[in-house]
Amino acid sequence: MNEALSRTIQCPSCWEMIDVIIDPSVESQEYTEDCSVCCRPMVITVLCRQGEVEHLEARSEED
Ligand SMILES: [Zn+2]
Repeated sequence: MNEALSRTIQCPSCWEMIDVIIDPSVESQEYTEDCSVCCRPMVITVLCRQGEVEHLEARSEED
């Protein structure tokens, strides 16, 4: 069983560092999450391999 991982990303709108929880059992995922600081939505792209986060990216939804 894979445990959820905590990672820090930078919000593309306000540039604050925020924590996100990632399920590493899903190899490729993209979802929208509201920033906990500025409440603006951002699209988070995650690639995982063998239970580890290989790529993590956050971009503004307007792009
Ligand atoms: Zn923000």
